[in-house]
Amino acid sequence: MDVPTSAPPDSALDLLSRVFGYESFRGNQAAIIDRVAGGGDAVVLMPTGGGKSLCYQIPALLRPGTGIVVSPLIALMADQVAALEAVGIRAAYLNSTLEPYEAEAVEQQLLAGELDLLYMAPERLVLPRTLDLLSRARLALIAIDEAHCVSQWGHDFRPDYMGLSVLADAFPSVPRIALTATATRATHREMTERLRMEGAEHFVSSFDRPNIQYRITPKDRPREQLLRLIRSEHAGEAGIVYCLSRRSVEQTAEWLAARDIPALPYHAGLEARVRAEHQARFLREDGLVMVATIAFGMGIDKPDVRFVAHLDLPKSIEGYYQETGRAGRDGQPSTAWMAYGMQDVVNQRRFIDDSEGSDAFKRNARSHLDAMLALCETVTCRRVQLLGYFGQDSQACGNCDTCLSPPVTWDGTVAAQKILSAIIRLDREREQRFGSGQIIDVLLGKESERSTRSRHHELSVWGIGQELSEREWRSVLRQLTARGIVEAVGDYGVLVTGPQSGPVLRGEAKVELAEDRVPEPRQGRGRGSAGAAGGAGRARAAESLEEGQKEVFEALRAWRTSVAKEKQIPPYMVFSDATLVGVVEARPATTGALGTVSGVGAKKLAEYGEAILEVLGSAHAG
Ligand code: ADP
Ligand code: ZN
Repeated sequence: MDVPTSAPPDSALDLLSRVFGYESFRGNQAAIIDRVAGGGDAVVLMPTGGGKSLCYQIPALLRPGTGIVVSPLIALMADQVAALEAVGIRAAYLNSTLEPYEAEAVEQQLLAGELDLLYMAPERLVLPRTLDLLSRARLALIAIDEAHCVSQWGHDFRPDYMGLSVLADAFPSVPRIALTATATRATHREMTERLRMEGAEHFVSSFDRPNIQYRITPKDRPREQLLRLIRSEHAGEAGIVYCLSRRSVEQTAEWLAARDIPALPYHAGLEARVRAEHQARFLREDGLVMVATIAFGMGIDKPDVRFVAHLDLPKSIEGYYQETGRAGRDGQPSTAWMAYGMQDVVNQRRFIDDSEGSDAFKRNARSHLDAMLALCETVTCRRVQLLGYFGQDSQACGNCDTCLSPPVTWDGTVAAQKILSAIIRLDREREQRFGSGQIIDVLLGKESERSTRSRHHELSVWGIGQELSEREWRSVLRQLTARGIVEAVGDYGVLVTGPQSGPVLRGEAKVELAEDRVPEPRQGRGRGSAGAAGGAGRARAAESLEEGQKEVFEALRAWRTSVAKEKQIPPYMVFSDATLVGVVEARPATTGALGTVSGVGAKKLAEYGEAILEVLGSAHAG
């Protein structure tokens, strides 16, 4: 630390306040820090935005030597290090972007005990050369970030993480802390085993993110739906839109840009330089929309992402929860929105069937997908279902679409039987298999060239479903497919009876279906859960400011933008919105008073204190 130190040894709380400018720990932070600072191992499960970084940063400062941080995210290491340097922590990284002489210098700093924290990727850490280097250095701890990557059955497996098991033997006296924002019980167990952390203490936080509003809506011209969402609820705000394919990423970004929504594409097919530039712009500019494949986002700790939209169905709840968790890290109201339809189910099932994986892999992928579909089709609280998936009980949340406007359900048993009969008749009597369009035409008795040619009007099931509209039949089919009562197979998604169809056909099971909401209602935003996610001291919305205060806030933001430009760091690394709001409300007249605002630590106070007081002075005068 190059922050001026007071004489007595630091306590964790001193560091929290002096270095980071925060007044109290959140959730399990204090207990975790205690455990690791005392030399014990810890396995930490905490949702995105919960505050995992401090759990290893503070122990690394408390213990002699350097804390090693293992992270898969080479592209973000420079930013992570810059954020630490901004508060006066001596941090560096070792990765392939460094020139040999730069890496050499970092290694020398490590050996000389001049680093508090050193970031590196797992593949580098396990090289004999690196292990040898580390054995010659004094290590405060080893933190394994995104530790779920070690789990083979999780959603984000990275083979390089497997090698980290050597750490147990290589550094038996160095405390290890494994952290992740996504873990079911199975992943949690696997993580602990593979990282050989049998003796670790486990800290499992609540996974709830109360400030995020979860909404899943039937797909119906999804880009238009997305545009409506952005214009009506998130105009001018930062967001991430996830698409499955590179092509749809490109097209959606262009489509939005043509409608005056500043949007950039991000996917693995773009040149590395372009990707890096788009990522940097997303972090540094206000109000950009990133349209991306899942290649984007891990480790992005931009706090003010206001919405995450999915235009395609994610493969698993783990993935969905991690992606949506990138919204609202600052605790402010945010939206997780998804449009999903029958074709998504067909596509995802086909991906699994066509994949190279073993049978066990495919079975695993199918059960992940089924859980995701159950979430999409649930008629009860989405949050209860999500948290239940992570083994956590909860009550209906009041801040998801099914809570805000409970779906109307109806008895769809007969409708399901009609669909199944149509599929069976076509198959048995004609040896014909069709996709959803033709099945619905048969049910409706809708003449077309194809139905005439195939003489479908001679079938006993012709026209037996005229009580529902085409749109309603599509909704029924989607719900039946999600539940495995109907199955869509092959490249064209031809329909066959699904594994769950038996009891329905025999009249033994009732099929409860939900009416689709058309058009999607504007949601009464369950605003105002700020603070709930992280307890006291959490950001309040800048909208809570009064008129005169808003101008001061804007003046501070303008100042922040100019500082960020000059230093070439993202604005939130200068100060977060929450901290600026705190400054406006406190109206400090002295640097001493400014130092008590949450988020203002010693280094930033020394660096920016005078400038802020100046901005406040002229804003209040003006
Ligand atoms: P995670 O890695 O779990 O997603 P971070 O470590 O990035 O979360 O923390 C999320 C945000 O919360 C950061 O802006 C961080 O500075 C802030 N934060 C963490 N702990 C505290 C605390 N005790 N008090 C106030 N803010 C905190
Ligand atoms: Zn709910």
